[in-house]
Amino acid sequence: MRIGHGYDAHRLAPGRDMILCGVKIPCESGPDGHSDADAPLHALTDAILGAAALGDIGKLFPDTDEALRGISSRAILAETYASARGAGYELVNADITIVLQEPKLSGYIEAMRRSVAEALGCDIRQISVKAKTEERMGFTGTGEGIASHAVVLLENRRDYA
Ligand code: MG
Repeated sequence: MRIGHGYDAHRLAPGRDMILCGVKIPCESGPDGHSDADAPLHALTDAILGAAALGDIGKLFPDTDEALRGISSRAILAETYASARGAGYELVNADITIVLQEPKLSGYIEAMRRSVAEALGCDIRQISVKAKTEERMGFTGTGEGIASHAVVLLENRRDYA
């Protein structure tokens, strides 16, 4: 068993789509960035890479690569998990926390779980998505940005030898 942790944060900008775990959330602003800036999926991607010790998202999908501009983070996640599986790893479970002041995400949690499970080709019961605020404190509390954390457990089906 191998554990991995990922963290990501993005500035929120007016007129950007708010896409979280691959689900579009109605909102006046959204995370700014080179890709679709899906912070929870970036955190999850880094957690998988961390568990498999395969590097990090910034190294594998650099924001200086014009070919990656506007790329779907679900595609980044799926490609990353395919690499991890190629190294012998299978997902046991993932737990994602989204930190955002507004809007409320409770009505989108199940759609986000389903989206992540589909991207990974796993059962929805392997995926947890939680949302919380930081009670108007700090950059998420003022609405300046969004943060996300993810923890995953991977099982290695091969020997290290
Ligand atoms: Mg990011």
